[in-house]
Amino acid sequence: MSMTYTIETWGCQMNHHDSERLAGAFERAGFRAVDDPRQAGIVVLNTCSVREKPVQKLLSRIGELSNLANGPRIGVCGCVAQQEGEELLARAKAIAFVLGPGQIHRLPEALDAIARDRRVVLTGFDAAAEHNAGAIFRTSSTRGMITVIEGCNEHCTFCVVPYTRGPEISRPLKDVVQEASGLAAAGLKEIELLGQTINAYRCPVSGAGFAELLEEIATIEGPSRIRFITSHPRLFDDRLIDVLARHPKVSRYLHLPFQSGSDRILARMRRRYTRAEYLDLVRRIRRAVPDINLSADVIVGFPGESEEDFAETLSLLEEVRFGQVFAFAYSPRPRTPAARYGDQLPGEIKKRRLAALFERTDAIATELNQRLVGSVLPVLIDGESRRSASDWQGRSEDNRVVNFPKAGDFGVGEIVNVRIVRAGAHSLYGRCVEAVPARLPLAETVPAGRPADDAP
Ligand code: SF4
Repeated sequence: MSMTYTIETWGCQMNHHDSERLAGAFERAGFRAVDDPRQAGIVVLNTCSVREKPVQKLLSRIGELSNLANGPRIGVCGCVAQQEGEELLARAKAIAFVLGPGQIHRLPEALDAIARDRRVVLTGFDAAAEHNAGAIFRTSSTRGMITVIEGCNEHCTFCVVPYTRGPEISRPLKDVVQEASGLAAAGLKEIELLGQTINAYRCPVSGAGFAELLEEIATIEGPSRIRFITSHPRLFDDRLIDVLARHPKVSRYLHLPFQSGSDRILARMRRRYTRAEYLDLVRRIRRAVPDINLSADVIVGFPGESEEDFAETLSLLEEVRFGQVFAFAYSPRPRTPAARYGDQLPGEIKKRRLAALFERTDAIATELNQRLVGSVLPVLIDGESRRSASDWQGRSEDNRVVNFPKAGDFGVGEIVNVRIVRAGAHSLYGRCVEAVPARLPLAETVPAGRPADDAP
C-alpha cells in the first residue's frame, strides 16, 4: 500500500476542521496527501449525518472507490461512523476502519490495524482525550479554525448531534488562547472559533464563559477578524453582546439558528426559547451592533407543523430580515424523539413550504445586499472565483461573499477595499479600490457604522 492519503469531507465546519486534524495525524505517520483517490493508498470519507440518506450516500461512494484500479483502503470517519459503528463493516467489505469524531486522536491505531490487515471500529467519546493543536494540518493560509467546545447537551428533538458528537466537552481557555496566538504568529488573518453550541462554553479550569474567551482572543495582536459558530439563542447573554459590540475584530456576523417561528413547534423541538425571547435577543444584539449581518438555520415541515405555524416562521423572517438563511425540510434522524412523532408531514407539503421560504429569504437577502451597492468593503481574498478564472472571491468583514476582477498586485490572504457595483441574493460584485495594510492598529480597523469601543 502506498503511503498516500486523501480525505473527502462532507458537512459542517466542524467536519472540515476534523479533516485538518486527521490530515495532521496522517502527516505525522509519514503519509503524503494527494488530491486524487486514484493515487491514494488510503481514502478517508469524513461523513455527515445531518442531510437525508447519509448511509446510502456513503455506501454509493464506497462502491465507486472499490472499483478503482489502485484499490485504496477506505476509512469512514465523522458522524455516520459514530452513528453506524460496527454495522458499517458488515455493510461494506471495502471498509478498513471506522473512526468516530470523538476518536480522531486514535487514527494511528487504525493505521496500525491496516498494516496488520485487521479491520477496526473506534467510536465513543473520551473526555480525557488530548486535543493536540500542534498536530493539525491546516489547509488555509488565510483562515484558521479552532475547536472551542465539542459535542452538545441540548438534545433538540430533531437533532442527531448529541448522539454522534457526544456530550459537551470544553477545552481549557489557556489552550484555546495559545492555539489562537499560534495562528496569529503564523500570519493568518481570520480566526474562526467552532462549537455546536459555542456559547455553552465553560472553561474546565477557571469556569470562564464564552464571552471571556472571545474577549481574550479579540485582544491578540495580528488577526483582523474573529468569527464564531454556532450560538444557541437560549444561551446568548448580555456579556457576549457587549464583547460583540466593543471589539472591532469580532466580526459583525452572527449565526443564530431559530428553527421555527411558532412557539408550539419550538416547544416540540425542545429549543427552550420562545419566539418572543428570540426576537427580543435580536433586538438587544441590533441595539448594540446596528449593522450586524444575521444568518440562521430553519426547519420547515417539522412533524405537526400547521399552515399557521409555517406562517409564523415566514413572519419571523420578515421581522428579522436575515442576510442568509440555511433552510431544510425536516427528515427523521435515527434515535431522535421527533423521528417517532406520529404526525409526520408528506413530502409535497415540505417541498412546497421550503420553496415558499426560499423565495422570501432570497428576496430579503437581495434587498439587503443591494443597499451595499456603492459602498467600499474590506474583503479578505480566499481564492479564485468558482465562476470565473479572471475574478477573485473573498469575504467582507460581515461574512458576505464578494467577487471582483483580478487587478493589481494582490493575492490570496490579502485584504483589499472593494467598491460594490452590483448585488444578488448570495453574493456581491465589485471593483478593487486599494489594498488594506496587513496589520492595522486596533482603532483603525473599526468598520464604518460600528460603534466605537466606548459606545454606551
Ligand atoms: S443545539 Fe444544535 S447541535 Fe445541539 S441538539 Fe440542538 S440543533 Fe443539535
